[in-house]
Amino acid sequence: MVVELPVYKIIMQKIKNYINGELIIPQAGKYLDNIEPATGEVYSLIPDSDESDLALAVIAAENAKSTWANTSTEQRAQVLCKLADLIDSHADRLALAEAIDNGKPVTLAKDVDIYRAAANIRFFAHAGTQFASESHAMEDVAINYTLRDPIGIVGCISPWNLPLYLFTWKIAPALAAGNVVIAKPSEVTPMTSYLFSQLCIEAGLPQGVLNILHGTGPNIGSPLVVHPKVKAISFTGGTATGAHITRATAGLFKKLSLELGGKNPTVVFADCDFEDTVTTVVRAAFANQGQICLCGSRIYIERSIYKRFKQAFVTRVAQIQIGDPLAKETQHGALVSKDHMKKVLSYIELAQNEGGIILTGGKQRQLTGRCEKGYFVEPTVIENLDNNCRTNQEEIFGPVCTIMPFDNDAQALALANGTQYGLAASIWTNDLKRAHRMAKNIEAGIVWINCWLLRDLRTPFGGVKSSGVRREGGLEALRFFTEPKNVCIKY
Ligand code: NDP
Repeated sequence: MVVELPVYKIIMQKIKNYINGELIIPQAGKYLDNIEPATGEVYSLIPDSDESDLALAVIAAENAKSTWANTSTEQRAQVLCKLADLIDSHADRLALAEAIDNGKPVTLAKDVDIYRAAANIRFFAHAGTQFASESHAMEDVAINYTLRDPIGIVGCISPWNLPLYLFTWKIAPALAAGNVVIAKPSEVTPMTSYLFSQLCIEAGLPQGVLNILHGTGPNIGSPLVVHPKVKAISFTGGTATGAHITRATAGLFKKLSLELGGKNPTVVFADCDFEDTVTTVVRAAFANQGQICLCGSRIYIERSIYKRFKQAFVTRVAQIQIGDPLAKETQHGALVSKDHMKKVLSYIELAQNEGGIILTGGKQRQLTGRCEKGYFVEPTVIENLDNNCRTNQEEIFGPVCTIMPFDNDAQALALANGTQYGLAASIWTNDLKRAHRMAKNIEAGIVWINCWLLRDLRTPFGGVKSSGVRREGGLEALRFFTEPKNVCIKY
């Protein structure tokens, strides 16, 4: 059953920027097409914002800065909690918008994306009221205490894979800590952040505290990151873009938090709980069409259970229901764009050229009716590849995983660590000592043992190696979004 389309899907609308508490059109009057990935059709227009829009946002943020910084954490928490409540009360509408805009199944959008967007805001609203700074006593000589002031104007740049989820993951701690924000959602998925800006007005968020500029990386992302009044950048996206931002801001002395790409290992030992492991490893590889930075795309299986695991895994993957993202029974929707679909399909071709054998999937899926021009790719499992080939080294960020056997713990560890990335890993075993050993030695910011994507928002989140710099989440995010100052008082 396909859910009813919202009004904005029927009457094509122009998305607006949110500046100084108002929804306004881009200064240059330029727009970009916004395409629904499940149909390949343009369904709304996005502001192609540029430096003139940024200039307005900076003025608005500058004017709001000191009032918001001096607003009590309690009052800031109240308005943020109101926003979280509004997300909850508009959850169906937001989930539908996310499914249309991104191509993800509407049930996933509601249960994961929209649920987490509200949870992010509520969590950081409360965390802001609990945030305390350190003091260091020097016996009977002096005492030091740390002041943690808001930074001022900060930039938050988010990607398309979990649009409202990752957008709120950044703006919530920034606002809770007393900063004013200029945010740039991905140009590919602007709709829920636009709907969110309407909720900000309804919640009574003061003018200029949050400004949302829509548009492309080059036209609005680049000017935002180098703007002299923007003192910190929290960025989530690809490693190449992260490197570009690092170079562009070198010498500008900005605080940078970079959450980047991944190529995450899933390591399955023979002593795992077989059924639970198969079920979760399928989800870990293919949730959100494999477009989650934490997805496990390299699956290593202990040789003694390799055949049995492979058979069970491939059978389950082949049963994943591909379909219209708006149909409630759909488990696997469209990829986010035509370009991204082409990229994913090119990697499947590359894998075969590298000697890979496709065990299931491997092709674009042609649907009928409303979705006949959509960007659907079958969940694909590949074996017979070397760990060092490009398929196993480069981030595909789609419904493609590889499976490989291993013989012992040391080999599993070497394979798991054998890429430039280090975001997340999952280990499947009932041997406690082995689990601890693997967790300690795996090069990743997050290690899940016998689970995947189980998130406690208090924990540090981020990657090592080419997967990122710094941590967000919990108090780490509040530390990032504040400037510590040591005060030393001599007795
Ligand atoms: P991109 O790096 O292409 O884009 C991310 C954001 O940066 C978008 O808003 C984009 O705008 C913007 N941007 C692009 N160029 C610039 C620039 N020169 N200056 C400033 N901003 C710019 O990533 P994707 O959107 O393709 O997202 C997928 C990637 O994100 C994957 O690599 C994935 O692993 C990673 N990711 C990492 C996560 C983590 O927590 N570590 C979580 C989720 C995703 P526009 O869209 O307009 O180009």
